[in-house]
Amino acid sequence: MKVLLINPPIYDFSAYDVWLKPLGLLYLSNILKSCGFEVVLIDCLDRNFFPHLIPKKDGTGKLPSVEVEKPEILKNIPLKYKRYGISQKDIYNLLSLHKDANYIVITCSTTYWYLGVREIINCVYEVIPKPKIFLGGIYPILSFKHASCLFSNKTTKIFYTTDFSELLDFLNIQHKKQYKNFAKFPPPDFSHYKKVYYITTRFSYGCRYNCVYCGQKIIHPKYETKDIEQFVNEIKFLYETTKCQNFVFYDDELLNSKDITTTVELFSKLLNLSLPIKFYTPNGINPKFITKEIAQLMYQLNFTDLRLSLETISDKVHKIVDRKLTISDFEQALNNLFLAGFKPSQISAYILLGLPTETIEDVYKTIEFVSKYKIRIRLCELAVVPKAKMFKHISEDIDPLLHNNTIFLFNGVPGVIEPLYKFDELQQLKTYVNQTNKLLTNCYV
Ligand code: SF4
Repeated sequence: MKVLLINPPIYDFSAYDVWLKPLGLLYLSNILKSCGFEVVLIDCLDRNFFPHLIPKKDGTGKLPSVEVEKPEILKNIPLKYKRYGISQKDIYNLLSLHKDANYIVITCSTTYWYLGVREIINCVYEVIPKPKIFLGGIYPILSFKHASCLFSNKTTKIFYTTDFSELLDFLNIQHKKQYKNFAKFPPPDFSHYKKVYYITTRFSYGCRYNCVYCGQKIIHPKYETKDIEQFVNEIKFLYETTKCQNFVFYDDELLNSKDITTTVELFSKLLNLSLPIKFYTPNGINPKFITKEIAQLMYQLNFTDLRLSLETISDKVHKIVDRKLTISDFEQALNNLFLAGFKPSQISAYILLGLPTETIEDVYKTIEFVSKYKIRIRLCELAVVPKAKMFKHISEDIDPLLHNNTIFLFNGVPGVIEPLYKFDELQQLKTYVNQTNKLLTNCYV
């Protein structure tokens, strides 16, 4: 039996390969292989297809793009709309090599990227006779009604959980119930990539906080971790089989908020491997749990480009969002990191734009506060996350294209949420942050 796993192209105003891998599909690949399936991956964002786009040292890099016509609902947005990834011709060619696939599993990791799914499904229908298609990922979990209306039919089944047991049932693999738990997942399967620029992985899945803007509680309600020994062996295996030196944690709660000794044990065991690798934390880490010991371990482990989730320094906003940390927690974490040996150039702070009751003055004050420490500022614009507490009132009938974080703050959700900022105001803010970061970069030299 042959299964074709597909990561679709992206339609968006901007996209960049910042450690973008279809991690769910890569876990699924090894699960299916362990059940005797032949597995093929078509990753439309695999940069091996574009060797002319040289990756950065950390493995990230540009994705090729072409401008496309904006969908009607985005016509008023004063930005170019693009398609990112391999060409449609290449998709047809790749699919035609696998006309004998028994099942096709497509993922979609963001609600407003469903146009890529539509393109893939249309291509599949043209090339593969009588396909059996499964659609999973964050899009159907958060926008199930939309995904069902658009794609569900006799040949396409929609999944809305992050465990694979339902899918495995459909494939008649009833005895593999253990894959209901993330803790039992095998390592992600990177054997599909000719050259591996970076490895993405998770020690944990889920998060015990419940921030008002976040969908993690819906995506993966339970907080689970792998067995430490098993995970450390996975890292060793992934390094030995790929020789890749960039390891990216997708964890949302990497530093265990209930028992930091677990994290100390994990990091100590990773350190014992003595591998020449670097670790990255794109989802941000909660500074509250960066103790002196954790900071030292992270330094010894070569955590690079450390991203701290500050969000805002406004106490009133923090109280509404979910009191994850105080300003003194953040300052203490920075002290611990500097003491351990980190340089300001290796650290950055996420500042969120669009939080409830947050004003533009709050944002500027937070920027001033962060730049005092000479660490980099990363502005994050909120996206609409259906079913998150803050967006509960947003109907599932709203087109997910309007969830896009590039447009939400100045476009709002017409008829439901007023725009929070003017377009020019946002541009000004971004320019200010770029200039501030540039000044910091100059002082690192
Ligand atoms: S934003 Fe981060 S800390 Fe908050 S609930 Fe989501 S994953 Fe957890």
